[in-house]
Amino acid sequence: MTSIDSNKHKKAKALKPTSRRPAKELCSECGLCDTYYIHYVKEACAFINQQIGELETQTHNRPRNLEDENEVYFGVHQDMMAARKQEPIEGAQWTGIVSSIAIEMLNRGLVEGVVCVQNTKEDRFQPMPIIARTPEEILAARVNKPTLSPNLSVLEQIEKSGMKRLLVIGVGCQIQALRAVEKQLGLEKLYVLGTPCVDNVTRAGLQKFLDTTSRSPDTVVSYEFMQDFRVHFKHEDGSTETVPFFGLKTNQLKDVFAPSCMSCFDYVNSLADLVVGYMGAPFRWQWIVVRNDTGKEMLDLVQDQLDTQPVMSQGNRKEAVQQSIPAYDKGVTLPMWAAKLMGVVIERIGPKGLEYARFSIDSHFTRNYLYVKRNHPEKLEAHVPEFAKRIVGQYKLPD
Ligand code: FAD
Ligand code: SF4
Repeated sequence: MTSIDSNKHKKAKALKPTSRRPAKELCSECGLCDTYYIHYVKEACAFINQQIGELETQTHNRPRNLEDENEVYFGVHQDMMAARKQEPIEGAQWTGIVSSIAIEMLNRGLVEGVVCVQNTKEDRFQPMPIIARTPEEILAARVNKPTLSPNLSVLEQIEKSGMKRLLVIGVGCQIQALRAVEKQLGLEKLYVLGTPCVDNVTRAGLQKFLDTTSRSPDTVVSYEFMQDFRVHFKHEDGSTETVPFFGLKTNQLKDVFAPSCMSCFDYVNSLADLVVGYMGAPFRWQWIVVRNDTGKEMLDLVQDQLDTQPVMSQGNRKEAVQQSIPAYDKGVTLPMWAAKLMGVVIERIGPKGLEYARFSIDSHFTRNYLYVKRNHPEKLEAHVPEFAKRIVGQYKLPD
């Protein structure tokens, strides 16, 4: 169990933006090292000291049940469902459940501030983490910034502001580091609202992805890898462009994902109280995982704004995952007509609901396991959590 309990951190000095990070090329720019909490980096960094198991017990008061397949895949939870807002928030990534929960928490006085990420004036994809204190500031942070984002860079301001009740919105690597320093923040109550996260990129990497994949890279306002096996790009004029997964230029895109994301096994944000994503839900619905009582309290605030339905699961992912492993490894790219055809077939007969989520987790964990094995073999044993080893162990991997 982590035992961080000193006040020494205040004497530590944040790194300059240009300095190399302690996790070196694996750094996901979570923001911790931009603050005096860098003092704890060797214990707290998700890429230096993977400790999901210990932190799960600390956060949810029990370990993940490795005898239960749903917990192996989706982490400690007490409930899961599909949901969507009856009145979606215009311009949100999906229907805006994340922003709505944050706004309710602020309006009802449960928290004094919300850590979230807006974008800079000059660039809609350049992340700008803030502590929001008004609903307008939360709304201005809606929609994904599909780039590595230093959300924890505002942590020093929290301790200095004297704030006692806080909501943090973030992805897995940010939340792991946050949980490791949670007790040092001087808070009475910390709420954590997470999203799943995978295949993130630097700002330069994002440009390469847009340039190689979209017909009009400059007008993309957001995109998502959807449950119908297509990337959906939303453009400034309101139009949607779709590109089948199987038509992505894998050979050109192989190096585009950040090394941190190629080494990550916390796709489902195991340490958040409540997780809001989409991949375990039917097409166009969001997917909600309630991990603990705090998460339930947060979800209850917006229940009357949501349509919900139970989670479902359909199909069998295993063969598709096994076949995709060598194809990805060799950088195989299908001609667009074949990719479209394959997209149509797999959408009809392919995995749906929780089975789609398992498909995505299996594909990414096998890829990432190979990446760590080949690039950081000395880290493999300690860095890959037990649940991920079990998932990867179902497949035959190349050397
Ligand atoms: P909104 O109301 O639009 O709010 C979005 C919130 O996300 C904002 O509060 C903002 O502060 C925060 N945010 C935006 N960008 C970042 C960032 N880079 N880092 C941290 N916080 C950020 N879900 C899946 O089920 N499967 C996936 O594979 C998946 N991949 C994702 C990859 C990335 C890089 C991100 C950021 C999210 C991903 N998600 C994934 C989550 C999903 O895309 C939606 O964010 C989620 O369903 C919430 O939608 P919403 O409409 O409720 O959010
Ligand atoms: Fe520091 Fe975060 Fe990078 Fe780790 S991932 S080195 S904690 S900024």
